[in-house]
Order: sequence, then structure tokens, then C-alpha cells
Amino acid sequence: MAASDAFERRFGRKPGPATRLSALGREPRAQHGFVNTPIYRGSTVLFPTLDALTAYSAEYTYGRRGTPTTRALEEAIAALENGAKTFLAPSGLAAVAAALTAFASPGDHILVADAVYHPTRRFCDTTLKRLGVETEYYDPRHSADAAARVRANTRLIFAESPGSNTFEVQDLPALAAIARSAGLWLMADNTWASPLYCRPLDLGADVSIQSATKYITGHSDVMLGAVTVNDRAAPVMRVYHETAGLCASPEDCFLAARGLRTLSARLERHWRSGLAVAEWLRTRPEILRVLHPALPDDPGHALWRRDFTGASGLFGVVLRPAPHEALAAMLDGLTLFGMGYSWGGFESLAVPFDPRSCRTATPWMEDGWVLRLHIGLEEPEDLIADLEAGLDRFSERR
Ligand SMILES: *Cc1c(COP(=O)(O)O)cnc(C)c1O
Repeated sequence: MAASDAFERRFGRKPGPATRLSALGREPRAQHGFVNTPIYRGSTVLFPTLDALTAYSAEYTYGRRGTPTTRALEEAIAALENGAKTFLAPSGLAAVAAALTAFASPGDHILVADAVYHPTRRFCDTTLKRLGVETEYYDPRHSADAAARVRANTRLIFAESPGSNTFEVQDLPALAAIARSAGLWLMADNTWASPLYCRPLDLGADVSIQSATKYITGHSDVMLGAVTVNDRAAPVMRVYHETAGLCASPEDCFLAARGLRTLSARLERHWRSGLAVAEWLRTRPEILRVLHPALPDDPGHALWRRDFTGASGLFGVVLRPAPHEALAAMLDGLTLFGMGYSWGGFESLAVPFDPRSCRTATPWMEDGWVLRLHIGLEEPEDLIADLEAGLDRFSERR
């Protein structure tokens, strides 16, 4: 942060986002001049005296509670999200589970977006349910639907914008107003946009969650999650994080910090290439609808323009109904798109979903598969050629 602070003192303004990505979470002068914060591996931290040991006031006291490597990443993400504090977890799902467990108590009712990441839904419907927390799902397109479902024992609203697989943009400021007036916490899963393109805390949320597995690390080689909170939420999250023993590997944090350095360059290309592929897909007769908030006729476009500063490379298309073999012929023959879960790496991916199987509060009207595409850093013309041949195979077997 030192470089950003020096810039601000000299020029009277904060440096821009890409500049901050370069400067955050490293302090070369504290590392013998080396550019990056190195990997500090460790469990035991030694104290010089009995008084120092028992005072428990040192910055580092035990590996589980953080090392200079993990702290550097926490500080960088907290600064990017404009939060008071970031807490790390060993995966994005662990971050989601930690945030929900920290804030919900037995007897509470919570509101969760119907388009939420499916493993988040499973956590709510199994573990939270067992702990006596009732989850109710709301229509992600209408904040009024969330407002109508608030009860006396409602504790929090959990949003995810845009929604997983179906990409509905949510009105976070409206949800924040509902949460404020009813005394609820607002949490947002901000993985799609990364902290570079959306800052839920600035829009009124109390908690912003990242699967750092995705764009922050960006190379499909790390599992990592982050929960960033405002001042009001920090004490609650701190107690849970410390007492539950959550921590993240310094090596993974090092790789995530390395990912941050190129996040701006990567995301801009994911955004531009993704949009180019999405626009091309719209011209194809096999496709009923393209689900991408940066397309001007997308139902979420106005909110996306208002609340986001960019788009990632992840979007969906609704395919015309077709037999399984048509879908298999398309996907099995792709040469550049891999088939597999997760996303946010440098490589392109394609995975089909049936949205009807994972929503309960809002009907999904279309019969066809939703194909989720992650557009990587390859040449968009090559990706389009691969998809074009795939859609031809799809058509031949319909
Ligand atoms: C992938 C993902 C997660 C979970 O992250 P992992 O690191 O895979 O556990 C949570 N939320 C969203 C929106 C995701 O896409």
C-alpha cells in the first residue's frame, strides 16, 4: 500500500484501479528490496520474553492467525473491495459458509437469491437447516420480492449478482435499503465481477464474498475464498473466523496476490472477448437467448451499467431444445473449450446446466439447456470457429 499512499500524498487523489493492483499488498523495502511479498510458511511464532508471549499483542502470534503472506493478500483485497477487513478461507464455498454461519443463529430466517451458486443453496438447505436456520429464496430480478418476504426473525439477505448460470443482475442498492430499514445484514457474492468491476460494500452491502479461485488467482491452480466486511460487520466475522480456525495456505495466497497484478489486463480481455463471442452467438439460430448483462437488450443491462464498471468473461446461452446426443455431439467435439467446473482461469470452458433443477422461488420458462461459457484469453476468432463447428454438429442431430 505504501506506493499508493505516496502517490495520494503527492497528487491529492487515489491512483486508479490498475495502478492500485500493482501496488497493493507488497512492501519491497521490508523484503530486502525484492518486488513481491515472499511465501512465509509457518505455524509456531517465537516470542523473545515471557511478557511478550503472554501479552498476545504481537502482529503475528501463530501461523493459523496469519503470516505476512496471508496478511498482504487480506490487505490488498480489503482495499480493492473498499472494506474494513478481509478474512480468508480455503475455498470460495468455505467463505460463503463462514459468512452465513457467522451471521445466522438458530431460529433465524434468511433470504437468499433464487439464482444463487448451487453449492451455496445446498449449504443453506442442509447444514444451516440442521442448525435451525430457515432459508427462503427470493426472485433475483425483483428486490420488492425480497422485501415482501422479510419476517420478524429475518436476519440477513444473501445476494449474488449476476446470478450463477442464469445471470440476473440484482439491485444491490435497493436490497441494501430494505436491509437497512429492517435491521438486516446484506451479503453479496461478488465473484463474477471481482472487486475490480463491482464493489458491493460501496453499494450498501455489509459483506462481500469472493471465490478467489476464479479471477483473482486466474490460472486454475488454487482454491481460495475471501470474506470482506465493513466496520459494522467486522467484529461478528472476526469472532467466527478466529474461533472456527479458518485459514488459507500462504502458498495459495502468494499465487492469488500474483494473480492480482494482472487482474486488470486479464479481465479487460475476458470482457471484450466474451462480449464479441456473445454478440456472434446471438446471430445463431440454435440459440434462443444470450444471458449476458453487458448486452444492451439484457433485462439486467441498466443495473449493470449503473453498478458495475465492467463485465467478466462468463455468460450463458439458452440452446433450442434438443436431444442429449445433439448436446453431446456439440460439446464432445470442441477443441479449445474444456468441459469442467469452475471458471476464471486463462482458458475457455463450456458446461451445460438445466436451471429448472436448481431454483424454487421463480420458474424458469425455457426448455433448452443453458450452456455456460467462460471465454478465456485465447483469440476470440478461434473460439468462435470452435463454437460454430459445435453448433453445426448440434443442428445436424436435432
Ligand atoms: C465458484 C464459486 C463459488 C465457490 O468457490 P470455490 O472456490 O470453488 O469453492 C462461490 N460463488 C460463486 C459465484 C462461484 O462461482
